[in-house]
Amino acid sequence: MSKAPHLTFDLHEYGVSRGHLVVPGGADRGELSLPVFSLNRGEGPRLLVTGGNHGNELEGPIVARRIIDWLAEAQTCGRVIVLPVLNPLAVQAWSRNTPLDGLNLNRVFPGRADGSVTERIADAVSRVLLPMADTVFDLHSFGPTWHFPPAATTHPIADLDLMARTVRMAEAFNLPLTLVWQHNDTAGMFDITAQNEGKVFVCTEFGGGTVGADNLAIYEAGVRNALMALGLVDGKAECPTFRQQKSTQTLETRPSDELKSPAPGIFEPRCSVLDEVKQGDLVGVLHPMDSLSTESIDIRAPGPSIVLGIRSGAHVDVNEAVALVARPLKL
Ligand SMILES: [Zn+2]
Repeated sequence: MSKAPHLTFDLHEYGVSRGHLVVPGGADRGELSLPVFSLNRGEGPRLLVTGGNHGNELEGPIVARRIIDWLAEAQTCGRVIVLPVLNPLAVQAWSRNTPLDGLNLNRVFPGRADGSVTERIADAVSRVLLPMADTVFDLHSFGPTWHFPPAATTHPIADLDLMARTVRMAEAFNLPLTLVWQHNDTAGMFDITAQNEGKVFVCTEFGGGTVGADNLAIYEAGVRNALMALGLVDGKAECPTFRQQKSTQTLETRPSDELKSPAPGIFEPRCSVLDEVKQGDLVGVLHPMDSLSTESIDIRAPGPSIVLGIRSGAHVDVNEAVALVARPLKL
């Protein structure tokens, strides 16, 4: 019988405290110790900030660690718990999923105490840390094979009051994009577990594949804006500059907004994220490398929309998504 997941320190201590979330061992490996930081200034909002859910999205862990020192100085009330790396096994391997069991941590929530290591991490977070928060920011970055603008995202939520509060929280990041993302692969997401408990849950995304100073500055500004909006820190939100513009917009996208590759090959983008396109505009071209013809295949916008994400730097299979488009949100 393995012991239960637990913390090695007292979260309720006033001020800054730190220690580990211990994920018990199982048949596949021994226990894991995940560094956790608690910034407690008494009564007020209760926030959990996590990064490193997917191991090839490294901006989140960096920004999560950066805000710890800032909060230690700036926080005026409430409690913030920061877990910079949810899945150290995936981060160490620069892999979306955990190499040991092949699982995507963001599809196994709320986890299983007697499951494989990824399921045990989810179980420990769900049982030990999630009950300590009313709001969760999970810092993702879309991974290395997509261009994606700095965004705060959520999914459609059946509870319309929670939906409205979540969209307001996402908009408070003041990032170039706030996105309501409807897709068919939400079972086992951290979001769903938190929302089922009535919590406001916002994901941040930022695609591009490399950790760069400009991107990190926008990302960090967004997180700071959200901490101010929650009332944890005094200050005035800033509007980060992205592609020479200081603007924000709230969009929605559905499964039918994915543009798929018509053949296997190399995708060449012909537009940039947040470009407005009309029906028939060229979004990109597909180069089938197994063909004796040198002709490429055009991929065009199905209707007036805004380019949300665009595939980069990878060979694609037939029917694999190469672009995502979106429209202004109608709540
Ligand atoms: Zn992710």
